[in-house]
Amino acid sequence: MHAETAKSLDIRGLQKTYRLPGGRSVPAVRDFTLRVEPGEFITLLGPSGCGKTTVLRALAGLEEPDAGDILLDERSIRRLPAHRRRVGLVFQNYALFPHMSVFENVAYSFRIRRARLAQFRAEVEAALAAVGLEGLAARLPSQLSGGQQQRVALARAFVMRPDLLLFDEPLSNLDAKLRLQVRGELRRLQKSLGTTALYVTHDQDEAMSLSDRIVVMREGRIEQVGTPEDVYARPASHYVADFVGRINALPGRVVERAAGRAIVETLGARMELAADRCPADALLLLVRPEAIRIVAATPGTMNGVVEELEYRGDQIEYRVRVGAVLLIAIEAALGRTRHVREGDRVGVELVEHALHVLSGDGSAANVDHASEAMQDPGIAAEAAKA
Ligand code: ADP
Ligand code: MG
Repeated sequence: MHAETAKSLDIRGLQKTYRLPGGRSVPAVRDFTLRVEPGEFITLLGPSGCGKTTVLRALAGLEEPDAGDILLDERSIRRLPAHRRRVGLVFQNYALFPHMSVFENVAYSFRIRRARLAQFRAEVEAALAAVGLEGLAARLPSQLSGGQQQRVALARAFVMRPDLLLFDEPLSNLDAKLRLQVRGELRRLQKSLGTTALYVTHDQDEAMSLSDRIVVMREGRIEQVGTPEDVYARPASHYVADFVGRINALPGRVVERAAGRAIVETLGARMELAADRCPADALLLLVRPEAIRIVAATPGTMNGVVEELEYRGDQIEYRVRVGAVLLIAIEAALGRTRHVREGDRVGVELVEHALHVLSGDGSAANVDHASEAMQDPGIAAEAAKA
């Protein structure tokens, strides 16, 4: 498949509430709407239980949604049974057939009788070569390492040239080194085939390094959709900032606005920002650890005491107490001698352009979770029971 033939994916208003025995219900996915461009690699990122797998299973036809539609190139596939959707799936547990050879496992994607498998030999062998498994076609899964088994699962997903590739935490059973290796291979394969892909993970590193765009999920809903840089540098909420890395969150207050500028007070210090960066008077200033500089303490700057200092060879991490807040700062060590010690009073500088300003308590702008929850029939029913 080439990029020109790749398909767009539209998920519209997807809802799923699981009904448990005894009448209890678990809202898993709530009003999930997303457009994926042809050939795009999108990652659903969020903590365990936020609904990622449910979205994926609905796309694959393994779960019946309560509401919503799924379109490939503008055509609904919602009513198609799983085996008629052209979807390649890779799960965390490789899900290979133990009694079938590597060749048969990969060829199984074509869903044809064993007698005719030989016709697909060239395609299967090309798929195995693409994941670096040439020569292993006759082995059983039990004769392969975990990394090799996951490569078989990848080859099986790719070989039938699916319209859509779906990955559910496919690397989490591999050790750290293999995980990086297979992750690179997976991305290269997806790029070279140009297949539209949806990848599920709770690992922010994976999401950042693999994705064209990331969908950050929270309790069945989308909290933010954006490029890795968007969600890292311009998170829509404190939750997103916290999930895609470490973040310092400083309460701030606009004490004066004049001539397009705003004076903002935070942790006893004052700074000047462009007024249009301050959406309200009560603010939450989000600062990444690498955007805080430790300087000499001077009157008038933000000051604090170094409670902890960690030397890591390439980096130094400081934990600096400023009033009620413990700030984390990271600087590249660059071989410089350390003149700061634990217990020292230091000045703290926030790199202004790297500061991200949210209003109030830092909840997602324009998303009123509480009132939406009451409109969701599943959640309303749940609330009525409580
Ligand atoms: P994730 O993949 O992000 O961890 P899931 O989609 O697996 O999340 O689950 C979302 C929510 O739905 C969770 O609260 C989970 O416990 C619940 N859930 C998932 N599958 C089922 C099921 N088959 N029956 C009942 N509840 C389920
Ligand atoms: Mg899951």
